[in-house]
Amino acid sequence: MNIAIIPAGGVGSRMGLDMPKQYYDLLGIPILVHTLRAFELVPEIDGVIVVVPKEHVQATEELVGHYGLAKVTQVIAGGRLRQDSVANGLAVVPAETEFVVVHDGARPLVTPELIRRCLVVAHENGAAMAAIAVKDTLKAVEASGVIRTTIDRSSLWQAQTPQVMRAAVLRRAMAEVGRDFIGTDEAAFLEAIGEKMVVVEGSERNIKITRPEDLHIAAALLQTDKGTDYMDTHKTRERIGHGYDAHTLVAGRDLVLGGVKIDHERGLLGHSDADVLTHALCDAILGALGLGDIGQHFPDSDSAYKGISSLRLLQHVMQLASEKGYRLGNADVTVIAQRPKLAPHWSAMKENLCTICQVKGDLINLKGTTTEKMGFAGRGEGIAAHAVVLMIAGTRVSSRMH
Ligand code: MG
Repeated sequence: MNIAIIPAGGVGSRMGLDMPKQYYDLLGIPILVHTLRAFELVPEIDGVIVVVPKEHVQATEELVGHYGLAKVTQVIAGGRLRQDSVANGLAVVPAETEFVVVHDGARPLVTPELIRRCLVVAHENGAAMAAIAVKDTLKAVEASGVIRTTIDRSSLWQAQTPQVMRAAVLRRAMAEVGRDFIGTDEAAFLEAIGEKMVVVEGSERNIKITRPEDLHIAAALLQTDKGTDYMDTHKTRERIGHGYDAHTLVAGRDLVLGGVKIDHERGLLGHSDADVLTHALCDAILGALGLGDIGQHFPDSDSAYKGISSLRLLQHVMQLASEKGYRLGNADVTVIAQRPKLAPHWSAMKENLCTICQVKGDLINLKGTTTEKMGFAGRGEGIAAHAVVLMIAGTRVSSRMH
């Protein structure tokens, strides 16, 4: 059995932000999720244990559920040092675990192929790790800044992860080196007890995100990744979309607009809660991203959506947008209704929509109009809504870093 341990305990102090770096968005998806997705795609990996700061355990569990990361069996609290986090992971691997694959949560560009190669070489040799040969000329420098000598780089490699070894050997190494030993990677522990480990040619792309500029490099590398859909979705930085919807007003139904139940003698008829405003907004977002329409994603024939709050549909639509690497720039929505008066409810509706779309209040504009009693809306037979949106590539977090 092969179990991955993903230490993701960085506090992000070098990034200059208050959030740990592993949660930063990289093209709309948290860094840690990119990393975990690579492990989802390796059939030889039987389970993944994620080790994070104690205060982020719950949020990480939610992330795992949200992105459907099926291989993650546990999210646990880490320790002060990387090695403490790895030891915590090692303590909870299943008894039948033969090999552990340790990989930095902040190396999101690791490929399933590199993980597999490290596993294969470890199974053949006992232990293996990704590394790249040093290319630059290396200088030993005095404290004064004066160069002492040029170091022969022919035998020097830069360590990366994954690092793969027998669980029993890493456990023994960590026990034997003593409490004061500090190892910045797992290989250091094996070296310390004389266990052999071999290098596997890693990749220049397998960077560790530690500084703000690393995030831009990672985004650029992902965007130039032919064969992934990042190329297509990021050709256009801004995408515009329009949505239109109309529902019939009938007796015996609640009137729900923007997720707010409005006191009225009739309500809108539909398979869900018939929230026409939210439907128009969903359709505009889907339209902007070339994802069809709301009916394709939430068919009337599916009983799962019967009576569902349309805010949940919006949440799903925003998730699709995020997976495509887009966020909401702004939205403008017009509701066409002769009655009732909607103005008293705008702020509650906005709050619902802004929370789900993760934008501030003035980025979603809501307004209403009558049709001076003309047409179906004017006669009170139904309510219609139009929405236009601007979707923007990238993420709020990375834009904050400029
Ligand atoms: Mg509708």
